[in-house]
Amino acid sequence: MSIAIAIDGPAGAGKSTIARLAAKELGYIYVDTGALYRTIGLAAFRRDLTADDKEQIIAMLPEIKVELAFNERQEKIVLLDGEDVSGLIRTPEISMMASAVSAIPEVRAYLLDLQRDMAHTNNVIMDGRDIGTVVLPDAQIKIFLSASPECRARRRYDELIEKGMDVKYEDILSDVIERDYADSHRDIAPLKPADDAISVDTSGEDLETSVNKLLGIMRDKL
Ligand code: C5P
Repeated sequence: MSIAIAIDGPAGAGKSTIARLAAKELGYIYVDTGALYRTIGLAAFRRDLTADDKEQIIAMLPEIKVELAFNERQEKIVLLDGEDVSGLIRTPEISMMASAVSAIPEVRAYLLDLQRDMAHTNNVIMDGRDIGTVVLPDAQIKIFLSASPECRARRRYDELIEKGMDVKYEDILSDVIERDYADSHRDIAPLKPADDAISVDTSGEDLETSVNKLLGIMRDKL
């Protein structure tokens, strides 16, 4: 039987960085489910759709193909209709579109099988918002990772600046707060810890400390 580790939490808690490093250490496959929602957000954006165009977004789903794959350097990438869009989905604009499309039940249903299939055939660390509650309710280990909004905004800001993007800390902070609110107040699969999740707060911690803390929890339970 394959093993699944679910890591949920709000934007910028360090889920993806920590999950990627922990997966490497344990020899598991890392699945970034946010990248899937972002790719659908990008597809909608490219069609000039907005958060209000629910019907058109739903109608678009059978016309697009979203896949997770590896490139020639063995890096995890996400494909939209065969095109590697991994870099294009990381902008603040697409973050907000991802949050908007993720509140549409048909979008969540569209991605559900894709996520479950990956966990059936591989040992995975999967990160997202509803992995422990909806996607993999039987995951052997569930972690809910959080940190203060200011700390999460600072991390995201540093990341984007490092990539050469022209962004303001205040804008990132208000995006983080807005996205947290939308993600935790939507009707379907809202962001919340599973009853059996272990909560970990990474505020003020450096990456190495957080990774070691999580690896400790995982090794204890495996
Ligand atoms: O994790 P990331 O910030 O890349 O996710 C982008 C958006 O996708 C989130 O704000 C959230 O609205 C949505 N998402 C979700 N369920 C997941 C993963 C991401 O609703 N499992």
